[in-house]
Amino acid sequence: MKALIVVDMINDFIDGQGSLYVENAGRIVPFVNTHIWLNDGLTMFANDNHLKDDKEFDNFPVHAIKGTWGAQLYGGIVMQLKLLIGHFLVCYFRFYSA
Ligand SMILES: [Zn+2]
Repeated sequence: MKALIVVDMINDFIDGQGSLYVENAGRIVPFVNTHIWLNDGLTMFANDNHLKDDKEFDNFPVHAIKGTWGAQLYGGIVMQLKLLIGHFLVCYFRFYSA
């Protein structure tokens, strides 16, 4: 099975108002959207998603709190998904690992 995995395309990282905004991150949105659109397999979104007291905040600013705007998929990506009804999966992670 073929799958496209899109990681952390959430408001807190991509939007200029996000709490852990990565400068110019929005520039990759058209590239990501093109791959989402062209993918004929499953598209899986792996998103950071924290509770308020997660250990990760010892090292990073508070971000991607479950249920907040910051933890939601970035708007430009969401618009693309509306055209792909039923062909994607969203997963949430409280911890990162390399
Ligand atoms: Zn995180």
